Parts: sequence; structure tokens; C-alpha cells
Amino acid sequence: MGKQVMGKQVMGKQTTGKRPIYLDCHATTPVDPRVVEAMVPFFTEHFGNPASLTHAYGWEAEAAVTQARATLAAAIHASPEEIIFTSGATEANNLAIKGIAEACLSRGRHLITVQTEHSAVLDPCKYLESLGFEVTYLPVQPDGLVDLDLLEKAFRDDTVLVSIMAANNEIGVLQPLAEIGARCRERGVFFHSDAAQAIGKIPLDVQAMPVDLLSLTAHKVYGPKGTGALYVRRRPRVPLAAQLHGGGHERGLRSGTLYPPQIVGFAKAVELGLAEMAAEGDRLLTLRQHLWEGLQSLGGLHLNGHASQRLPGNLNVSFEGVDGQALLLGLRSVVALSSGAACSTASTAPSPVLKALGRDDDLAYASLRFGLGRFTTAEEIDQVVAAVVATVQALRPVAP
Ligand SMILES: *Cc1c(COP(=O)(O)O)cnc(C)c1O
Repeated sequence: MGKQVMGKQVMGKQTTGKRPIYLDCHATTPVDPRVVEAMVPFFTEHFGNPASLTHAYGWEAEAAVTQARATLAAAIHASPEEIIFTSGATEANNLAIKGIAEACLSRGRHLITVQTEHSAVLDPCKYLESLGFEVTYLPVQPDGLVDLDLLEKAFRDDTVLVSIMAANNEIGVLQPLAEIGARCRERGVFFHSDAAQAIGKIPLDVQAMPVDLLSLTAHKVYGPKGTGALYVRRRPRVPLAAQLHGGGHERGLRSGTLYPPQIVGFAKAVELGLAEMAAEGDRLLTLRQHLWEGLQSLGGLHLNGHASQRLPGNLNVSFEGVDGQALLLGLRSVVALSSGAACSTASTAPSPVLKALGRDDDLAYASLRFGLGRFTTAEEIDQVVAAVVATVQALRPVAP
């Protein structure tokens, strides 16, 4: 990584040239230059190991981590000791789900989650099933929301954990965490939520929800990749079995040397997200509305996910009468986005999330996920509308 990376290049805009417009902000986001600036001193100058308690290098790094931890805790109304740094939301989800399952073996072996969860929740659940645990995968309603009556019915005497995400990574739908949390609390069942898409974009309050474990990541909110955290409630205490053993970092729950540049950047990113949340949310809503209205002339559109209870930067649309693969190929040079083919690396199955909404295979394939973000402009939306309209019109007559 040369010096250039720290300068203007990170935003991409200045150097785009022929690069497509970026509308894939649910996959990742560029690091905000203000975040990069906060991180830089911790690579070369304040490079110490926060666990080195015998000299100033360690103290500086430890002070920065302490401050970042306090910032992140405050952002979700937690206390600093409740934040466990991880390599991202995947690791946080694994620690929460496998950590509870292992720590609560004597209480029960049943977990509840939802069919539209991210693979970083579903795969740990499948792994637990292979060990003899039982998992209920709740369906969703056609708008993507969990049916609370079905949740009620799914509870068993041996249920130890409910894991339901805050904001969906494909359709942006926001689950009713407060209602879910209250039901879990009534029954003494722990409640975990994957908030990878939510942190810094919608308000999160672990007291109000109430949630016992909350997974966070930096790179969906203009922070660096490879860093995240798990909030773990201390009162009442949530028992958790560590999944990484080593030097006993993070109160024994996650060993491994902390990474101060990433952690400082993570905190800065979340701080900026909170400070700009209201204004940015309004701006994104306006852009999204503009995009949605611009597509209406096509007809044969299906909005995937609840119309309003969703992230402001998310629009997910199925297009009747086009081949999904051809649609994505036709747009590739103009706009970078994802389609309804499952985004998991090796597979081209239709998105399980869209299938769970009741979409048939053709409509699931022929869908686009627009992920608008901090650096998306109105001109870009105009260009994308023009390109999508032209491409769909060209493809419809030739669709099989
Ligand atoms: C991106 C994402 C993850 C994975 O986060 P990493 O930090 O990349 O491991 C997990 N859950 C959801 C909902 C996501 O959007």
C-alpha cells in the first residue's frame, strides 16, 4: 500500500474514469477519508501493542483502543466492558451463536433464527445442527418481516437463543427488534441480533431493544474491512464460551492482538455515521425515491421487502420478463450492483432471501439490489435510471 491510498484515491470518484458507478453499498463501502485520517497515526507512529503495559508505546495504543471502545459503546447505549473486538460481523456472529450454544449446554439445545438471515448466522446454525442442536428457521411474511405469532409458537422449554438481524443485507428490511427482544426477555431466552447493516445508519439501543448480543462491523459504514465487535450484555450476565483461545485478550472472550488502526477507524466511522444519520437518511430516501420513480415507466416491477420499514439506502426490485444474468451483464459497465443470484461465492442459485418472500425463481434471478451510500449523487442516480430502463427495454423482447 503506497501513500496514495491515504489520499484522494480512497473515494474512487476522482479516479473513476471508466469505472462503473458504485451502488453496492451493502457489500461494502469506501472508507471515508476522515476515517483514514484518524487511522494513519496508528500504523507508523503509535504502533504499539495495546497489551504492552510496560512502556509508552503500549500505553498510547491502549489509550486509543479504550477511547474507541467507549465511543462504540456509547453509540449503542452499552458500557465499554460490554464491547468485544472481533475481525468483523462474521466472527461476532460465530462467537455469539456458538458461544451461547456451548455455554448453555445444560439449559437446552434449541435455537431460533430466520430464513432470511445472512450466511454468517445461518452457517453457524447449520454447524450446530451437525453437532446435534436443533434450529427453527422462521419463515418471513411477503414483506420480509418476521411474524411475531410464529416466533411465539417457536419457543420451547429448551430454547437458549433467538438470532434475528436488525437490517437485511439484500432487501434492507428492519425487523421489529424491540418486540422480539421483549418476547425473549419474558421467557429468559437470550437474544442476538446481527446489526452489520444497521450500525451507523439507524438508531440502535441495546437497553431499549432489549438485546443481549449485537454483532457489528466497520466496513458497511465507511470504516475499514476486517474489524468489528460483539456487544455482550453484562447485566444480567450473558454466558459465552470463547471461540478463539490464546492470550486472553478481550476478557478471555477473544484472544488475539488488537489492531489499533482498525479499531480507531471503526469508532470514527460509527461516530460520523451517528452524527450524520438524520441528514444522510433523508438524503438517501430522496435519492431512492427518485430511483424508484424513474423506473416506473418500465412497468412489471416488484418491490422486494417492506416499502418503508427498510434502510434508506436500499432498493431491491424484480423485473418481469427479463433474464437476470443478461440484465446484470448489460449494466455492468455502467453500474456496480448485485443481483438476485445468491451472492455467496460459489453458487448461482436464486437468492434464498427473495425466495423466502415468495418470489419465483425467474423473478428472484431478475432482480437488482441497489445499495446507495454516502458518496452517491443525484446525477449518478439519473444515469443509473437511464441505463436500467434502456437495458430492460432491450432485453424484454428477447427474453425466453
Ligand atoms: C456484511 C455482513 C456480514 C459479514 O460481516 P463481515 O464483517 O464482512 O464479516 C454479516 N451480516 C450481515 C447482515 C452483513 O451484511
